[in-house]
Amino acid sequence: MTDKTTVLSDAFGRKIEYLRLSVTDRCDLRCAYCMPKDFDGYEEPANWLSFDEIERVLRLFASRGLSRVRLTGGEPLLRNRIADLAGRIRAIPGIDDLSLSTNGTQLVKHARPLKEAGVTRLNVSLDTLQPARFAAITRRDALKEVLAGLKTARETGFAPIKINMVWLAGTNDDELEAMIAFCRDGGFILRLIETMPMGETGRNSQFASLQPLMASLKTRFGLIDGLIPGGGPARYLVTPDGKFSVGFITPMSQHFCATCNRVRLTVDGMLHLCLGQEDRLDLRQLMRDGESDESILTAIQTAIDRKPERHEFSEHPEKIIRVMSSTGG
Ligand code: SAM
Ligand code: SF4
Repeated sequence: MTDKTTVLSDAFGRKIEYLRLSVTDRCDLRCAYCMPKDFDGYEEPANWLSFDEIERVLRLFASRGLSRVRLTGGEPLLRNRIADLAGRIRAIPGIDDLSLSTNGTQLVKHARPLKEAGVTRLNVSLDTLQPARFAAITRRDALKEVLAGLKTARETGFAPIKINMVWLAGTNDDELEAMIAFCRDGGFILRLIETMPMGETGRNSQFASLQPLMASLKTRFGLIDGLIPGGGPARYLVTPDGKFSVGFITPMSQHFCATCNRVRLTVDGMLHLCLGQEDRLDLRQLMRDGESDESILTAIQTAIDRKPERHEFSEHPEKIIRVMSSTGG
């Protein structure tokens, strides 16, 4: 049962109710803004949290008010028996929202088992609808698989499905209209994302602020501010009749740190308090040292007390050496 008197909260009064769980740091794509082409700094399997360890950590968090979990990676569908893990997480009292971020290449195979296991919402990354461009951005010719995966997910009953499009100046910024049409026709919710300077790959990406685009969409189509459920950082613009919406994730041009309600757990059991700093708590070590639930909970709260007020991506873009795929986006 959730003990509301001891809900996890940080020094700035932000309640921590959302955890992004990276279940693997491996991926079958190599998106240029995320993973170095020849990346080989993977965690040893011996260091991966087991399903029992993951469940233990999440039960502890849930006993202190955590209600939402997102499975991510790397590519989460590469972790063996991912649907079994989803089912175990969904059965934890208090966790009532389980979502998953995927590149979609393996969704044809996994959509149904994930739905049956209780995954409620899906985010699928898709930066372009052009096969050659897809291959250039992700370094793999897999657009067909992703589109088939989206179709299967929709037929399986996932709704809403959000499409995450990283906005890359000079690469895919001529595809907005095509992507809007694709999402409108397919019943997907489009979200545009600014790149963050995570590792060399993130720093070398073609960043462009989304603010000019937001302003022009408001005037061109009369879009107004709207709300779409999710608990994440996106701001949405919607048509006055509510039939069309587009989301914006703007960590750089207008950060959302004041309402940050989340922490991240990596595949090797590191609890990261903020994407924009290296401070972490080694939960794997604590568990494998035989620490009690009570002492682990104390360590978690002490770490959350150190959660910084905001990231410093603009002031110190050189600060983060971790790439996004090893932290969990
Ligand atoms: N592989 C899955 C996927 O691509 O959706 C899940 C992990 S991926 C790291 C999660 C999200 O992070 C994706 O939407 C991806 O586009 C985003 N991402 C990766 N690197 C990024 C960066 N440098 N800046 C902003 N977003 C990034
Ligand atoms: Fe893989 Fe997702 Fe990173 Fe692309 S964004 S390389 S799909 S982890």
